[in-house]
Amino acid sequence: MKLLHKKNVLIVGVANKHSIASGIASSMSKHGANLAFTYQNERFSKKVKALAKGWGSDICLPCDLSDDNEIDETFFELGKIWDGVDCIVHAVGFAPSNELDGNFVDVTTREGFKIAHDISTYSLIALAKAGKKAMEGREGSLITLSYLGSQKTLPNYNVMGLAKASLEASVRFLAVSLGKEGHRVNAISAGPIKTLASSGVKNFRKMLSYNSERAPLKRNVSIEEVGNAATFLASDLASAITGEILYVDAGFNITAMGDLEKD
Ligand code: NAD
Repeated sequence: MKLLHKKNVLIVGVANKHSIASGIASSMSKHGANLAFTYQNERFSKKVKALAKGWGSDICLPCDLSDDNEIDETFFELGKIWDGVDCIVHAVGFAPSNELDGNFVDVTTREGFKIAHDISTYSLIALAKAGKKAMEGREGSLITLSYLGSQKTLPNYNVMGLAKASLEASVRFLAVSLGKEGHRVNAISAGPIKTLASSGVKNFRKMLSYNSERAPLKRNVSIEEVGNAATFLASDLASAITGEILYVDAGFNITAMGDLEKD
């Protein structure tokens, strides 16, 4: 069954084939969606265009999310190609690497805080603001990516945890704000996955093994599994789900004490 037949989906956040956004693109293209992509800057242009081809799309637009003009331009250009947008996927996060290495109180800076919240959090609101008109009358779906660091502390995640907490609050406020127009807003809180962004967090490899040893399913998750959850949230099967944070983490978030036999 193709869950996204004829749905137009804009995917923001593909950097390479390992990106969570790539797992989402693969699943959504299998489910019949028409896909369009943005890339952060010229450095990513060639790679994203090649990947997009593989998912049957030749729509790739430049969009640095720190620039409102580029965001507006993205929807303007998309409007020339599509008659509307059914789903926007926001799979973007960034904090300067010095913020993600060391003791929270010592390494967190005013500038790092601003950047992390601007790129990782405000950008969702900016996409909603600019994309609202394109979703008009289509019962659109906005999907973002979060992480458990929004709720619990963990080493080195630092200011990104604060940005993700703010992102999850933004999901709830946006869900109310856009709900009267029939649009839904949800986040997927994914377990740790090796990607370009996650490799910026110090000791990320150790996080991966800690997670797989203690998660109820005794493993980590794949970008395809996150992609399938995004397909569900974008589909009509999730028509009454909004403002939610859906964990796709092999169950890690529900545990408190791991495996006492093993530890
Ligand atoms: P990734 O590096 O593949 O993707 C991050 C994307 O953000 C890249 O495409 C990058 O170009 C884009 N980006 C950064 N700054 C930008 C800007 N100014 N304008 C436009 N785009 C910008 O890494 P990923 O792990 O796939 O990250 C996707 C999302 O998933 C992020 O929000 C991340 O926090 C979240 N997440 C990741 C994990 C994990 O372990 N990898 C777990 C949970 C949540």
